[in-house]
Amino acid sequence: MTNLECLRGAAAPKSHNARTIAALTTNPGCSRRAVMDAAGIDKERLASHVGFPARFGQSQFAITRGNVFEAQLKANGCAELLRLLREVLALPIGAAAYDDLESVNQLDARADRSRELLTRAADGDEDAGTLFDHPLLRLEVGGRWVYLEPDLIALQFGGKFYVVEIKSFAVIDGKADGTKVSAAATQSAVYVLAMRRLLAEAGYDPGLVSHDVVLVCPENFSNRPVATLVDVRKKLSVLERQLARMGRIDAIVDGLSPSLTFDLQVDDAGVPQRPVAELVDGMGQIDARYSPECLANCELAFFCRHEARGSTAALGKSVREELGGVSSVSHALSLASGAVPPAEDEIEAAEMLRFAAKLRSECLS
Ligand code: SF4
Repeated sequence: MTNLECLRGAAAPKSHNARTIAALTTNPGCSRRAVMDAAGIDKERLASHVGFPARFGQSQFAITRGNVFEAQLKANGCAELLRLLREVLALPIGAAAYDDLESVNQLDARADRSRELLTRAADGDEDAGTLFDHPLLRLEVGGRWVYLEPDLIALQFGGKFYVVEIKSFAVIDGKADGTKVSAAATQSAVYVLAMRRLLAEAGYDPGLVSHDVVLVCPENFSNRPVATLVDVRKKLSVLERQLARMGRIDAIVDGLSPSLTFDLQVDDAGVPQRPVAELVDGMGQIDARYSPECLANCELAFFCRHEARGSTAALGKSVREELGGVSSVSHALSLASGAVPPAEDEIEAAEMLRFAAKLRSECLS
């Protein structure tokens, strides 16, 4: 049994998808998350058992709205989508052959069929198609293969592949929520990477897959779609770094106690029996780097937030950077009130804190 298997215990490894792989990039400095993900630990179940259940994910309403919007775009052989792609990618009228890969049932067969069609298209074989609906790609994450399903990959005239991502959040007056666009771009970058690796393994130039992805969203408050090109180069490099780090996770794992495990010891009814204190103690042995962004991206966020309570880092990246070496909120308050003199490396932060305290008292009086 490897160290990672010991950490996971008897449970089956938790599978990744594009959303969870994208989430890996939001806090690349966190060893706790890196170890848990590399070991395939079910963080949601773990968080729930220790009393801090995750509270994020898409609402049923958003999922239904997304499905309706996607179905509308793909109706009649992707007619509506094709119109948008012609505009944004200058796709020629004739390039409209459509392949629905979702119709292949078995996972491996579908991945093989996707690979066959995509490599044939890379060869310039016109019969291979132009629009590939729900192809199944594979990506190695922490030593395990993960299946990924982009909404669509379009092949532009001229031999370049574009990942098309369909989202149901609205673009209002030409602008969309930056956080949602960023999350969609990271998710698309996962597909671009998987697609590039597929081509590279088959002996093709990975550069055939564009770093620009096509993001399709509803416009204003209607269901009218609008398409935009989004450059995901930065996301790709963060993603590649984080995946490479997962492959090198052994250095962190080697520093952990050999007896450490997050096995929940479920009984015959599937109910975890492991004492909570042991799991909390175990999590405390792996460094975490909580920030408020964790709340939208990691199942352990409420546990880590509770653990980090009282630390300045828990207040966010900008506070962490502004306050430098001042690690606790209570110490920051003492510096602000002048109750304790600052150490040499705290002088700048202390001045800023005193100034902020002065402004606050002026405002309040
Ligand atoms: S919630 Fe905890 S484990 Fe997850 S990324 Fe944040 S600090 Fe790391």
